[in-house]
Amino acid sequence: MYHTKTLTELSRMLQTREITSVELTRAFLDRINKHDKTLNSFITVTPEQALAQAKNADARIGRGESGALTGIPLAHKDIFCTLDVRTNCGSKMLDNFISPYNATVVEKLNAAGMVMLGKTNMDEFAMGSSNETSFYGAVKNPWNTAAVPGGSSGGSAAAVAARLAPVATGTDTGGSIRQPAALCGITGLKPTYGRVSRYGMIAFASSLDQAGPMAQNAEDCALLLNAISGFDERDSTSLDKPVPNYSADLNRDIKGLKIGLPKEFFGEGMAPGVREVVNTAIEQYRSMGAEIIEISLPNSHLSVPVYYVVAPAECSSNLSRFDGVRFGYRCKDPQDLEDLYKRSRGEGFGSEVKRRIMIGAYALSAGYYDAYYLKAQQLRRMISDDFTRAFQKVDVIMGPTAPDVAFNIGEKTSDPVAMYLSDIYTIAVNLAGLPGMSIPAGFSNKLPVGLQLIGNYFDESRLLNVAHQYQLATNWHKQIPENFR
Ligand code: GLN
Repeated sequence: MYHTKTLTELSRMLQTREITSVELTRAFLDRINKHDKTLNSFITVTPEQALAQAKNADARIGRGESGALTGIPLAHKDIFCTLDVRTNCGSKMLDNFISPYNATVVEKLNAAGMVMLGKTNMDEFAMGSSNETSFYGAVKNPWNTAAVPGGSSGGSAAAVAARLAPVATGTDTGGSIRQPAALCGITGLKPTYGRVSRYGMIAFASSLDQAGPMAQNAEDCALLLNAISGFDERDSTSLDKPVPNYSADLNRDIKGLKIGLPKEFFGEGMAPGVREVVNTAIEQYRSMGAEIIEISLPNSHLSVPVYYVVAPAECSSNLSRFDGVRFGYRCKDPQDLEDLYKRSRGEGFGSEVKRRIMIGAYALSAGYYDAYYLKAQQLRRMISDDFTRAFQKVDVIMGPTAPDVAFNIGEKTSDPVAMYLSDIYTIAVNLAGLPGMSIPAGFSNKLPVGLQLIGNYFDESRLLNVAHQYQLATNWHKQIPENFR
């Protein structure tokens, strides 16, 4: 029953030689074999490579040279470049792409001795909130296979929730770690912008993208964050700031912690079942000695519109590299260069990606730049100033991660705006560059509900501490969907 254990527990079992990494890796590969036909959470499974890595890890443990992560299997979101392994990013455009190098996140976790089980399914180029935009088909939510797992890191969230991998990596541009974590009942953390290198992470919106851990609990997230954080000279926006030991403060008492509740997050739009769970979680914190303070983020209603100018603008520029010449898909028998560009992009990209490229190109074009892009950047500053003011009064901000529990597959595909509103509580955090977490806090209609924790810049240690204290007092993060126990 290895799959019911946390990374922390498995790590202990490896260190005491109760199990080997090869056994553990086999057990998870077996689970993927057995269950992923139902879930579709992986695009690529890499058993041979995994077993080779596991063997090396066992040897390393034998030599006494191992760390907390050595020998632990994990799944990488398919947005991370992985040397000699398919890296498809949920897109037909990259269906034939085998990466010639490793992303920094992958390289660091390899160096720690982790074992890659495979690459997880995701919305095409990380654009989506339901995993339905993937060229490789929708991912099913392990709690109810008629429902979406959230997105864009839906494959990683579903895999961890169904215990097909003990932990996974994800990326979050507007909510893509936190929202699927909430909808699948797992713990996910989006670090401060610049904390984790973006090198080798296929770019969507570079000023917002950030990689982070997805796991069963905060304790495991801390171990992964320890390994992936830090300066990287290959990412000009990664910050040269010492990496603390994120596991060190987990047990700090939270008595006197000041929790801010933004009144804008508790207005209309939140489903009653979500409200009830979030309020109960806040009461739990109050009973643990936290002080609850109402705050205001007056510009938060602007975050979705601002995001849908900034993110498409950046994506239209980032995705211009996929032109049929250098990477990925090329149309058949192009007549000339223009035909090559047009048909390769026309055939290689899905409709959501095309919609964003068009919006972005429009917003950046001469004559519209000031009205849209420049204005959005000004509002972005106001949104982040709201947080700066709030953090003068409180230590963390809490609220719902998503307005509702997982919706059904197909329910929102014809209504992009309804889909975009899934990230109404998460997007402002990316616009401000702050760290945010989602932790399981209960259920509504038998589907998981996430509580969102937002911290000040580089205050991941505190977020993890606050999450861990809640997880010591509650069991929500230990729930496993019935068919995957
Ligand atoms: N759902 C948002 C979008 O579609 C956020 C995606 C993300 O964080 N990668 O852009």
